[in-house]
Amino acid sequence: MSVPGPEGSAPRCVICGKPQVARFRPFCSKRCANIDLNRWLKGAYAVPGRPEDEEEGGALPPTSAKG
Ligand SMILES: [Zn+2]
Repeated sequence: MSVPGPEGSAPRCVICGKPQVARFRPFCSKRCANIDLNRWLKGAYAVPGRPEDEEEGGALPPTSAKG
């Protein structure tokens, strides 16, 4: 078996599989780094088992400042 390049066992980008770049490890470029970041953010903000349904208007009674 022959590998197309001197870096046979070089680590690869976890997003697209291209050879990693030291500057953007463990990715190959800033773009792939952003992709991974967006995935993480979506996972962090997403609330499981809850539809995006917002209520508009004020169901709560108006607060009276009289005292
Ligand atoms: Zn990549």
